[in-house]
Amino acid sequence: NKIPFFSPTHISALLSFFLFKPTDKERHVGQLEFALSLHNSVVGSFPPLQTYSEEENMMREAVKKYAQERIAPFVSKMDENSAMDEDVIKSLFEQGLMGIEIDPEYGGTGSTFFSSILVIEELAKVDPSVAVLCDIQNTLINTLFVKLGTPAQKEQYLSRLSTDMIGSFCLSEAEAGSDAFALKTRAEKHKDYYIINGSKMWISNAEHAGVFLVMANVDPSAGYRGITCFIVDQDTEGLEICKKENKLGLRASSTCPLNFDNVKVPEKNILGQIGHGYKYAIGMLNEGRIGIAAQMLGLAQGCFDNTIPYTRQRVQFGKRIFDFQGMQHQIAHVATQIEAARLLTYNAARLKEAGRPFIKEACMAKYFCAELATLTTSKCIEWMGGVGFTKDYPIEKYYRDCKIGTIYEGTTNVQLSTMAKFIDKEYDH
Ligand SMILES: Cc1cc2nc3c(=O)[nH]c(=O)nc-3n(C[C@H](O)[C@H](O)[C@H](O)COP(=O)(O)OP(=O)(O)OC[C@H]3O[C@@H](n4cnc5c(N)ncnc54)[C@H](O)[C@@H]3O)c2cc1C
Repeated sequence: NKIPFFSPTHISALLSFFLFKPTDKERHVGQLEFALSLHNSVVGSFPPLQTYSEEENMMREAVKKYAQERIAPFVSKMDENSAMDEDVIKSLFEQGLMGIEIDPEYGGTGSTFFSSILVIEELAKVDPSVAVLCDIQNTLINTLFVKLGTPAQKEQYLSRLSTDMIGSFCLSEAEAGSDAFALKTRAEKHKDYYIINGSKMWISNAEHAGVFLVMANVDPSAGYRGITCFIVDQDTEGLEICKKENKLGLRASSTCPLNFDNVKVPEKNILGQIGHGYKYAIGMLNEGRIGIAAQMLGLAQGCFDNTIPYTRQRVQFGKRIFDFQGMQHQIAHVATQIEAARLLTYNAARLKEAGRPFIKEACMAKYFCAELATLTTSKCIEWMGGVGFTKDYPIEKYYRDCKIGTIYEGTTNVQLSTMAKFIDKEYDH
């Protein structure tokens, strides 16, 4: 993105400087601008936040096309039946979208975190349920295995996660939601294995998962410092995947309670270090929030894209309803919020990828995008009038799907509290 030393910009700046006899003030401003552009040409200019690498652009375009062709035809049926279509799951794996950051050595796509964010956004434009399936796999499950797995664990699980196995992340319990580390699931040590007892709630994708990453406490006397992450295979004796919840939205994504009744797990199935589970959960959810921000952003954009053409076509009082100033101001306002949400999300993702602090920014992105999705979907129904309230158009589904954005991976209050902690610290002297 470097500007060549004698770019047309420089030549025209030089010409206007010498030909048009500037006033002192204009000369001063001109000199400043020229100096700035020369500085940029030497040290490199800063690309706009919505600049994509060639690979990111290709990924975005490919997923957009894939989602239209292979997911869109199933969305309404999957919502109605509360069931993810098996062919959709299969095609996600075929497209390499379930192992985006996994090394090709393990059958993954070998791409970046930012690409995962773009993929989640594109999928959510078409179906937020499919987006969350891809999101949890990439931002939570795969990342935990990549960061913490032993060579044997990586060999066994990464190659499956990128090709045919879904993973679920199991932290929440009936009595431990926002206060997640109050969890009661217990893992008791015996010789070279552990026995897990307890139950989990709200586990996404559990219906199709082949592996569960389960947070259980090995030493309740140590409080949250006993929390440890266990790899539990779906067919382990004593693990029961219970009936999925009947939900308002995100209906195609299964959300199930799990019971652990004397589930025997070998010691080698501990992921990372004993007692570090709480750190891993916090770390993963910090990153994962950027994924949920992308899901809500895509959802809002998808809803908007499905609504604006209608407002440009629908005629009342002899005019397109888009032409009423009362409509235009609302539409422009929502478009601005979508733009702001995109900038927050991409900024948080780029910060994370650059290895810079990003937690506050991730919370801001998740908080803002969830609010934006609520505003956009509600406005879109209003702009569509009566038909927006029916199932003939996809708008009412986006409206139902968006609500989860203020709840999972940390409620809106939890995001705000975390942001406030950072703000408080920033003013310490
Ligand atoms: C569809 C769905 C999918 C999910 N998927 C998963 C999954 O895959 N894995 C998993 O482990 N969990 C999952 N969850 C659980 C989810 O993360 C929790 O629901 C969430 O953390 C909130 O917990 P809770 O439902 O117990 O609400 P509560 O914690 O009881 O919160 C209720 C209200 O109280 C507020 N509140 C609580 N504490 C405070 C506080 N200190 N200050 C201010 N306000 C507060 C909250 O903001 C909220 O408004 C999922 C949930 C849903 C609904």
